[in-house]
Amino acid sequence: MLILVINSGSSSVKYQLYDMPREICKACGVIEKVRNHHLALRLVIQSLLRGKKRAISSKDEIAAVGHRVVHGGESFKQSVLINKQVTKTIKSYSRLAPLHNLPNLAGIFACKRLLKRAPQVAVFDTAFHQTMPESSYLYGLPYAIYKRHAIRRYGFHGLSHRYVAEKASKILGRPLKSLKIITCHLGNGCSITAVDKGKSLDNSMGFTPLEGLVMGTRCGDIDPAAVLYLMKKKNLSINRTLELLNRTSGLLGLSGKSNDMRDILRLSRRGNKRAKLAADIFIYRIKKYIGAYIAAMNGCNAVVFTAGIGENQPYIRTKVCRGLSTLIKKFKIRVLTIHTNEELMIARESYRLLKR
Ligand code: ADP
Repeated sequence: MLILVINSGSSSVKYQLYDMPREICKACGVIEKVRNHHLALRLVIQSLLRGKKRAISSKDEIAAVGHRVVHGGESFKQSVLINKQVTKTIKSYSRLAPLHNLPNLAGIFACKRLLKRAPQVAVFDTAFHQTMPESSYLYGLPYAIYKRHAIRRYGFHGLSHRYVAEKASKILGRPLKSLKIITCHLGNGCSITAVDKGKSLDNSMGFTPLEGLVMGTRCGDIDPAAVLYLMKKKNLSINRTLELLNRTSGLLGLSGKSNDMRDILRLSRRGNKRAKLAADIFIYRIKKYIGAYIAAMNGCNAVVFTAGIGENQPYIRTKVCRGLSTLIKKFKIRVLTIHTNEELMIARESYRLLKR
């Protein structure tokens, strides 16, 4: 059964065609500088039909389309088959994640028109974290604000955290239900999850993907009073402030040079002090979260590193682990590096729903 996996972002559409349940990727690609999602998806299907390898000979061979949807709020604890009500609910969460959910929806609508026969599945980045208890997802705000405005911590990168946690349990040869795992997704966006007996207990991202670790261009944890102070002092608009916190902070803002860890470490090795400082802050924040999650779970069997930095930067992994060496020894924690595969997770989820 062929399942087309679509990750439809604001300026790019990534796709992979999976042969399930064999889990073989038959084609993949990315359309960049996307302005019109319908045109982009048409290009995707054309390239499957006519590309060098001709992955399919007719559109009808695509049995289903699995879409990555970033924000499922409190409504989606699992993946779902898409119908009108589902798209309406996804749209209602676009007020919480406008940069993500609207392009995700554009991809869904385009596929509906282009592949009329194929059922569509929505797989959410937030769903895995819907097991978080109130004690980890509520902020210390008045409870009525949570009830009225849905302001709480949601957690993100759920597909990646779940994928690597499941893989870790296979590598360790122990059931997920018997393990306490800390998964570190370190890419451009970075987040850490405490996976307790297979369930997300906590994730470092919050109401939006801005909270938590220092990232490529996002600042991570910050005292909200500092933000308000700055807005007042510099007379900043809300949009300008969001831009500052999301796009010009993090490694980029601290180093003044780059959001890319490869550049940061190269500059640091050459003696650039601000680049070294950026890397040090990045590492320190990771250590702090891992320590906190060992405490939150009252133990830990494995720490997993994944995504661009987690998989490819041994310097960062080593620094984090050296800083935690006492805890690692005490709890006999295994440290693993696992390649993440969010697209395969979407294909698996779509296949599981269709079979049902
Ligand atoms: P995204 O979150 O956009 O999917 P990635 O997971 O690719 O991004 O992570 C981007 C980060 O990973 C960058 O800081 C980059 O330096 C680092 N990175 C990606 N690939 C490599 C590599 N092959 N070697 C070293 N660092 C890498």
